[in-house]
Amino acid sequence: MEYKTHIRVRNLSVSYGKEQALKNVTVDLPEKKITAIIGPSGCGKTTLLKSFNRLIDSIDGIKVQGEVYLNGDNIYGPGIDVTHLRKKMGLLSQRPHPLPMSIYDNVAYGPRIHGIRKKRRLNEIVEHYLRESSLWDEVKDRLHTPASRLSVGQQQKLCLARGLAVEPQIILGDEPTSALDPNASQRIEKKFLQLKEKYTIIIVTHILRQAMRLADYVVFMYLGELIEHGPAQRVFKEPQEELTRGYIKGVII
Ligand code: ADP
Ligand code: MG
Repeated sequence: MEYKTHIRVRNLSVSYGKEQALKNVTVDLPEKKITAIIGPSGCGKTTLLKSFNRLIDSIDGIKVQGEVYLNGDNIYGPGIDVTHLRKKMGLLSQRPHPLPMSIYDNVAYGPRIHGIRKKRRLNEIVEHYLRESSLWDEVKDRLHTPASRLSVGQQQKLCLARGLAVEPQIILGDEPTSALDPNASQRIEKKFLQLKEKYTIIIVTHILRQAMRLADYVVFMYLGELIEHGPAQRVFKEPQEELTRGYIKGVII
């Protein structure tokens, strides 16, 4: 299968002080597909994910070498507007972090920052993205109540709606279902499968079955190195590397 590349990573190395978390990673990630970054704990999955929107930059003592190209531009090159870059990506973290405000204001937050003030327009936007994240029916009668009163699963969907409301091209998820119960996880997974028609989705997961259910493309990391990457079917059915085989069989955890 031919893929159109969305994120092109070249010789990316990242160190936290003396600890090298990524070692010379090179990979092309496909557009409008789901890529799963898999591998045992501490192998650099989160670091790789956060390098895509330069969220790792602010960490003390961090050193980044190499390039990450997004639509042809090296995001680590000179003259890159990090705020603009981050606007292209929505990030879901392990635990949902809704802003301490109402459900409505959480979704309207980004659009307001971008200058949308008209009440009617904001109402439309809030409804649209709450529908997009499949939360609308559950919350439409209590939009002005605090987001903190939602269940964890609902909060994660709200964070998804908030991320989508700034019209990103890419959705990054760092173990986005790890704090959710099986039902809520399933709903988020289903949502991702729908959203990939419009967005490039990259998720980190340590749940192999989740990667098998969702991924079109797989990146397997081990101790900071990219060991193997390719179409999910191929990597799961015929892993080329001993380490990948071991991980899929559950020998390496
Ligand atoms: P994963 O997401 O696969 O568990 P991480 O990318 O979080 O892996 O971490 C990779 C390595 O970098 C680990 O050895 C971890 O201890 C180290 N690391 C991650 N974040 C930091 C940090 N802020 N400061 C120092 N070391 C870090
Ligand atoms: Mg992690």
